[in-house]
Amino acid sequence: MSNEIEKTIIIGSGPAGWSAAIYAARANLNPVVYEGTVKPEMIPLGQLAFTTEVENYAGFPAGNIRAFVESAVDKKRHHNLPPIPGPEHSKGKGKSRFSLEEIEPHYAVQGIELMELMKQQALNFGTRVVGEDIVSVDFGSDIKKLNTSGGATVQAKTVIIATGARANYLGLPSEEEYKNKGVSACAVCDGALPIYRSKPLAVVGGGDSAVEEATYLANLKGADTIYLLVRRDEMRASKVMQDRAINHPNIDIQWNTVVEEVQGDGNVVNNLKVKSTVDDSIRDLPVGGMFVAIGHTPNTAFLDGAVDMNESGYIRWAKAFRTNTSVSGVFAAGDVADDYYRQAITSAGTGCMAALDAERFLAELE
Ligand code: NDP
Repeated sequence: MSNEIEKTIIIGSGPAGWSAAIYAARANLNPVVYEGTVKPEMIPLGQLAFTTEVENYAGFPAGNIRAFVESAVDKKRHHNLPPIPGPEHSKGKGKSRFSLEEIEPHYAVQGIELMELMKQQALNFGTRVVGEDIVSVDFGSDIKKLNTSGGATVQAKTVIIATGARANYLGLPSEEEYKNKGVSACAVCDGALPIYRSKPLAVVGGGDSAVEEATYLANLKGADTIYLLVRRDEMRASKVMQDRAINHPNIDIQWNTVVEEVQGDGNVVNNLKVKSTVDDSIRDLPVGGMFVAIGHTPNTAFLDGAVDMNESGYIRWAKAFRTNTSVSGVFAAGDVADDYYRQAITSAGTGCMAALDAERFLAELE
């Protein structure tokens, strides 16, 4: 075990983790970020690593983003950047909103680019980054102990947990094949993208999230029919949300229906094979996309109950408008403690809050 006691260790490398690191580094807390290695938990750069264009992160309107990204991000990491979704990708594939006549690099920031920018900003202020997971913790004393996937034990006066959550998927191989090509787990993030625009779409799930996603899609300008695929003859969603779906003219609820296979032309989804849970009959449902809204799983297993969590495993914030957990000196930020907003920008906001909370906690200790 290293004898060094860090002021702040940040676990997780999504928007919450990097925003916490930027603030902590600028406050001279000399933070270390454990950015994660292993799927499905602690994916480096978090859920945005699986997202294409991000059109709703304030401050990033579409533009010549790549030139900016390449000027800001260390050249050694340029190989991590995704291909530019420019016009050459759009021919017949509907990948880009821009016509061939328009300037090629004009596109919304992509998830990985946004995260590489945040990481760079944290590095610029001296954040140290370790490419390992935290696999277990001991929060039993004022000095917190964290065990890494590399076999080390590190110690800190404050810990910021920003390990996020992961969307649950159906687990079909065809679903995996079409991720980001017509399969998504976030309508608010992706629903307005060109590949989904004005097409019939399916939302899978019967909870509040599914209704929310279906309603969001159904209210988009030019929306076609939104099929809500519910596996039982009733929904888990709250009554008010159910009524919203049932009464929406663009939402068509398909009861007792599950997805058997996602089909497409290799580039984009064009059909679902769906099965009746009543008589096992199979039929086609032609759609241009499928949004899976069957819940999320917070990445909290490694904590083994060391902080107070709700029944779904999300960390509970112990004080209103603060990021404190049930353990003094341990703070939580982003989706790991938020099953409600779940947006990159709200995660970044709570990451900032956690760093400020940690800074004030340390100031009081001294
Ligand atoms: P939930 O766990 O509430 O619902 C998951 C839904 O997905 C259920 O209908 C479930 O069906 C269905 N499902 C699960 N697995 C499968 C599968 N393999 N195939 C098909 N369907 C499946 O998750 P949510 O994300 O909807 O909500 C999480 C929490 O967030 C809830 O507490 C919710 O109230 C809250 N929330 C509130 C909102 C609001 O108030 N505006 C908005 C969004 C979320 P079954 O019922 O048969 O198990």
